[in-house]
Amino acid sequence: METFAEHYGAMCAAILNRMPGADMELIDRAVDYARNKHKEQKRKDGSPYIIHPLAVAQIVTEMGLDTDAILGALLHDCIEDTDASHDDIAKLFGETVAELVEGVTKLTRADFSSTEEAQMENLRKMFMAMSKDIRVVLIKIADRLHNMRTMQYQTPAKQVKKCRETMDIYAPLAHRLGMQKIKWELEDIALRYLDPMGYEGIMSYLTAHQEQDEAFMCTIQDKISTRLASVGIHNKTYGRIKHVYSIYRKMNTQGKTMDELFDVYAFRVIVDSIPDCYNVLGHIHDLFNLVPGRFKDYISTPKPNMYQSLHTTVIGTQGIPFEVQIRTWEMHETAEYGIAAHWKYKQGSGDGNEKDFEWVRRLLESQQTTDAEDYVHSLKIDMFDDEVFVFTPKGKIVSLPAGSTPIDFAYAIHSGVGNAMVGAKINNRIVGIDSKLKNGDIIEVLTSKTAKGPSRDWLNICKSNQARTKIKQWFKKEKREENVAHGRSSFEAEMKRVGLPLSITVDPEVGPQLLKKLSFASWEDMYAAIGYGGLTALKAVGRIRDDINRALKAQTNEKVLMTGPLRTTPDSDHSKRDRHAVNGVIVEDIDSCMIKFAKCCTPVPGDPIIGFITKGFGVSVHRMDCPNAQNREEPHQAARWVRVRWAHQAEQPFDTTLELDCITRDGLLLDVATVMTTARVRVKELNGKDLPGGRSIFTVRFEVKNVSELEVIRNKLLSIRDVIGSRRGQN
Ligand code: MN
Repeated sequence: METFAEHYGAMCAAILNRMPGADMELIDRAVDYARNKHKEQKRKDGSPYIIHPLAVAQIVTEMGLDTDAILGALLHDCIEDTDASHDDIAKLFGETVAELVEGVTKLTRADFSSTEEAQMENLRKMFMAMSKDIRVVLIKIADRLHNMRTMQYQTPAKQVKKCRETMDIYAPLAHRLGMQKIKWELEDIALRYLDPMGYEGIMSYLTAHQEQDEAFMCTIQDKISTRLASVGIHNKTYGRIKHVYSIYRKMNTQGKTMDELFDVYAFRVIVDSIPDCYNVLGHIHDLFNLVPGRFKDYISTPKPNMYQSLHTTVIGTQGIPFEVQIRTWEMHETAEYGIAAHWKYKQGSGDGNEKDFEWVRRLLESQQTTDAEDYVHSLKIDMFDDEVFVFTPKGKIVSLPAGSTPIDFAYAIHSGVGNAMVGAKINNRIVGIDSKLKNGDIIEVLTSKTAKGPSRDWLNICKSNQARTKIKQWFKKEKREENVAHGRSSFEAEMKRVGLPLSITVDPEVGPQLLKKLSFASWEDMYAAIGYGGLTALKAVGRIRDDINRALKAQTNEKVLMTGPLRTTPDSDHSKRDRHAVNGVIVEDIDSCMIKFAKCCTPVPGDPIIGFITKGFGVSVHRMDCPNAQNREEPHQAARWVRVRWAHQAEQPFDTTLELDCITRDGLLLDVATVMTTARVRVKELNGKDLPGGRSIFTVRFEVKNVSELEVIRNKLLSIRDVIGSRRGQN
């Protein structure tokens, strides 16, 4: 059991060490107040409750914040757990402290652990809180850190829930705020409960090799400090083993065991000035052999979270590679405490909260996360980079894509509001309906019963898909006939332009296939879609062009192949034959057989397909245009190719692969991942490969229901800047 005296002593020692200027008298008053308020409460281990606020205050002190933040930490559970009110605290400790406590209370009440969606929503609330005063978030992180440190007293179910939440929300947040030290501790504790076996495996390996590791690190450390001393560079040099979770993640992403994983040692050289950093770098490269391609200069280009250091990897004695990080003391402070360190440097300079908000916003907006390991983690927070939060006149928060206008807002409220809109007010002032909304704006939509409805221009002005969809729906419904006529003539013109016969669309065999590929129930529907702008004629024809050409070719070939093993089956037989579907595929003339999908071309429903009778593994289904299916007219193979087709309802998802041709740039992987996430696609694999000449290829393996869904996703991916082409995977 832990005591008040222990924790009070530790907090005071931390204050003396890190913040000697803090107002001790006020702090003591807050300690007494909190101790009295919480006096009936006990921690899960039976300790008096007050040790928790004391420990949180100690962490906040170590971050190097200020007296108000320490007071906020000491009182952080008072509103939530005792009869203390905002006003009580404001009277005794000032409005700022009361606001801090209230902010932390709000975050405490938010449940971050339910569904994915709710997490995002709450993250946003957190962001809102953060934009008011970043100290609220820092106290909340300190609170979570102490709760993680005392996690052993919780029930197993609660441990897993809290640790998951820590991995999903708090550790990435600490990372984004540049607080490496806290991030690592949070991750290591969380891993211990989320994968005890994995954690123990690494820990016992490290313990078993401790002597060996220490000997190695001592040798290297001596070598570096001796050299630097001899040239008169004042330094602090030390070695460490990377933190458990980073080893764990490396083992899993690289599929390696501890023995195979070399990259676990890191050395740090802390010096007084930036020129010294580069000098040290020279000496390191002189002492050891450099591993090419691993040098990174985060001094001249800091990471988005303000992190600065030089990184290089070299090979030491026994051929073991290790990383060396070189930085100044100030950079070290920023690396350990992130935004909190920044806060400290700015104190007394008279900057208000306004500037802090700017800084946090920029920090969250930057998408320069190039480290592949980081991208999954930063994704959740990056997700709302591009959102703007505004209010209805009644104070309801509406989140919209950044750059949204009153039109987006109106359609977010209701399509009826959007359709009847004649104008808008932002913060009580009449504005143009194309004005850009800013965080915190209050929007009022002016409507009229005699409004003419949306204009086509709105499609270009609005930013959200929701608004665009609703506007298109309006045109679709209101102007159907006009749209059909308009769409038909565009489609006909485009077919003519590319030299395809319009008659193919009414061909009883090919026509329905084409419609299916286009995902429309009738040609009239498709014309209407083109008419109201849901689809361009260029895209529509582009999507079916290959199929038409293939169909035209097949019609010619069929006459030759009539006596061969490929037979056509009239469409009317489909329903009868569907009962023989296996994995969503029907093999004609064979009642039941094993079906597998060829790995080389990953067909999905809607693709023209053909089957190949393998020796002993049933029928392997290829796409018609798969290179491996091009030899089907060779005499000794011809008999093994069979006609197959998709069953009408194939519900299970299909794996497929797209390759994207891209112009290499930072953040592209993140953009691709974000598109996949927002399209709610299950991604199985996502790789980028750099090619010479500033090009790269991204391979995405994911699940789709059919080819039209695939095409929708393909179009979304193609709309990403610097994605210049795509093709279906051919391994
Ligand atoms: Mn707490």
